[in-house]
Amino acid sequence: MRYSALQILKEGLTGNKGWIPAWREPEPKAEYDIVIVGGGGHGLATAYYLAKEFGVTNVAVVEKGWLGSGNIGRNTTIIRSNYLLEGNQPFYEFSLKLWEGLEQDFNYNAMVSQRGILNLIHSDPQRDAFVRRGNAMRLSGADAEILGPDEIRKMCPYLDYDNARFPIQGAIWQPRGGTVRHDAVAWGYARGADCRGVDILQNCEVIGFVMEKGSCHGVETAKGTIRAKKVAVCVAGSSSRVMEKAGMRLPIESHVLQAFVSEGLKPTIPGVITFGAGHFYVSQSDKGGLVFGGDIDGYNTYAQRGNLPVVEDVCEGGMAIMPMIGRARLLRMWGGVMDMSMDGSPFIDKTHIDGLYLNAGWCYGGFKATPASGFCYAHLLATDRPHETATAYRLDRFRRGAPIDEKGHGAQPNLH
Ligand SMILES: Cc1cc2nc3c(=O)[nH]c(=O)nc-3n(C[C@H](O)[C@H](O)[C@H](O)COP(=O)(O)OP(=O)(O)OC[C@H]3O[C@@H](n4cnc5c(N)ncnc54)[C@H](O)[C@@H]3O)c2cc1C
Repeated sequence: MRYSALQILKEGLTGNKGWIPAWREPEPKAEYDIVIVGGGGHGLATAYYLAKEFGVTNVAVVEKGWLGSGNIGRNTTIIRSNYLLEGNQPFYEFSLKLWEGLEQDFNYNAMVSQRGILNLIHSDPQRDAFVRRGNAMRLSGADAEILGPDEIRKMCPYLDYDNARFPIQGAIWQPRGGTVRHDAVAWGYARGADCRGVDILQNCEVIGFVMEKGSCHGVETAKGTIRAKKVAVCVAGSSSRVMEKAGMRLPIESHVLQAFVSEGLKPTIPGVITFGAGHFYVSQSDKGGLVFGGDIDGYNTYAQRGNLPVVEDVCEGGMAIMPMIGRARLLRMWGGVMDMSMDGSPFIDKTHIDGLYLNAGWCYGGFKATPASGFCYAHLLATDRPHETATAYRLDRFRRGAPIDEKGHGAQPNLH
């Protein structure tokens, strides 16, 4: 069923009896060409592009919970392509371009809202760094502008410009950045994949791999064995635990990241604002809630809930640039498990095990990557060659001395 204004009108006039479920609930087949493990944003996007761009439709997405139960439904919804390094910038710009046409492409309202992202500058060295980043962005076709305090003041008069410790000296502004309704992305990709023949198997945990003579030939699941020519793992914060079942140890640590939503306020925040002297980012949802977050909790965990010291730290960051946030009441908060890699950049690669592929290490920037990650993973699975924007995301990059360390923090996953 194609969604359109005409369809809504027709259904409204006929008692809304014609709507059909957005995707089927099929039983698993004994064998598929490709089994994707993990029905998060990246897994569903991979299935969608495999079917749509590469004509591979004998595919199953195997999800242990329900669609949207992982980080795709837990993130703070920010999209942008303001990256510096060559290995990253073209990939994230490709992703932003896919976001721009996504709703028409998969015929689903994902509320893609390009309201802009403002990264505040608080010192001279930071200005130098952001100017360099802006130049790198423009060289790969992205949009970036450096703004002075007067221009920011017109957009956001309520920021604390003259804070003694963190005066606002300017910002790098990416007008095409913004927000997207996160769970609608999962639903849109799921519907688009399902209607092209992909089986989406919910409540079907993968508990092992079918290994024969050192190659991977399928997965063991809660609903039995499913054989496959290729198995594509895409489980974000559970990557280490799932790949351990294939005997692989990954350069990834899992940490929890929390998100916060305030009570609904009048429209205040034009797009996304990030604090440059600490870690705090905020946008405003269409319902009026301030949606914000900060650093990960610093310890390793697989629990989808965080602790109070980080709540305090995030709120301090908010108060430092936007004191009026202290008057807003916090409505809800939650956590998601992040797959933090050693250099802060992801992996989209074949493993050393024939038939087994890995997409992981998205840290806390994986939502914006969803379309390009799905497209590039589908490209790899269909052609056995990396997509041109994802050639740097190899598993052996540490051994080759070619990490992609955007922040320059070294091998400290909790700092990326
Ligand atoms: C609080 C928070 C805020 C964030 N904010 C942003 C942001 O503003 N911008 C941004 O770009 N990124 C953000 N992120 C990061 C982003 O959400 C993730 O990097 C991205 O969603 C990860 O990819 P995914 O959608 O495929 O993950 P998930 O949705 O987590 O998908 C993985 C799936 O694998 C399933 N799974 C796990 N184990 C198994 C198994 N054994 N068998 C079968 N299925 C399994 C899980 O149930 C899950 O559904 C944020 C994350 C969090 C938690």
